[in-house]
Amino acid sequence: MAHQAVFDGHNDVLLKLWESGDRCGAGFFDGLPGHLDLAKCREGGMSGGLFAVWVRGPASPDEDDPAPVFPPLDPDHARTVTLQMAAVLLRMAQARPDALRICTDTAQIGEAEADGALAVVMHLEGAEGIGPDLDELHVLHAAGLRSLGPVWSRDNIFGHGVPFRFPASPDTGPGLTDAGRRLVQEAERLGMVIDLSHISERGFDDVARLTHGPLVASHSGVHALCPTSRNLTDRQLDMIAERGGLVGLNLAVQFLRADGARDGATQLADVLRHLDHLIARLGEGGVALGSDFDGAVVPQEIGSAAGLPALVAAMRAAGYGDRLVARICHDNWLDLLRRVLA
Ligand SMILES: [Zn+2]
Repeated sequence: MAHQAVFDGHNDVLLKLWESGDRCGAGFFDGLPGHLDLAKCREGGMSGGLFAVWVRGPASPDEDDPAPVFPPLDPDHARTVTLQMAAVLLRMAQARPDALRICTDTAQIGEAEADGALAVVMHLEGAEGIGPDLDELHVLHAAGLRSLGPVWSRDNIFGHGVPFRFPASPDTGPGLTDAGRRLVQEAERLGMVIDLSHISERGFDDVARLTHGPLVASHSGVHALCPTSRNLTDRQLDMIAERGGLVGLNLAVQFLRADGARDGATQLADVLRHLDHLIARLGEGGVALGSDFDGAVVPQEIGSAAGLPALVAAMRAAGYGDRLVARICHDNWLDLLRRVLA
């Protein structure tokens, strides 16, 4: 039996390719160590997802720092690297349309999937590469960008990103700036997903007030189960539910475990607890996946995109029926994108 198809809300493989100097993304097709490459996607049933463009700062804090601080990026550096990383994805799609396509609507996603090509939606995680006049937003949109997180976990001209803290509330600082409000409204007008993962609680509320579409967090978890600043409170989940929105569950172990530890031995039972809670708050149509592959430590039982069937098996063992499994793994993201992408 073929694997359940998975359309995933978040990965960082473009960063990995860019940092290795692979400007054509050839490694993705030839095979890479880590969570994601073409063979692993095919082995695990991953049919597509949101691929993030994210710019690392010059001095990243130590991985084990319990309260890391990420200083703002230099805007010229951020713009250069943002365009370079988007170009990696564009070259990949040009070189191997049989294997990977950049999709800007759900008809294209459906066609790519039917042809056995990975259906990629380009996502910008932190808008540091965009200036206050929003010129780069329009250029990136023309290049295929259809999902935008105004901030990553650091401050920029658009707003306050939630720093990584545990245990901590996501109410860590101010929300959107004036420029941030313009960015969010223009991105919605262009028919883009506004991603609420990494934004402060006040920024979340600002986006909810300013926009009309469904609220989306592409890779987050449940604060009631793991009280990290990166997870969503029940109040936020209820707002997402009210707006017919969606949460892609982040598989980063430190956002799943009650103790917040970065421990790869984390059990799939922890993933199921988050899925159960999300289903209870959002309904069966509001829950999806946002793995954070190549950006986080994920449970060893999954290990990489090739291990997604282990997660599907755990859902079935927990009593999730075929229809619910298909919605969480694939159909809910497609339904959300059908409603948002212009
Ligand atoms: Zn992220």
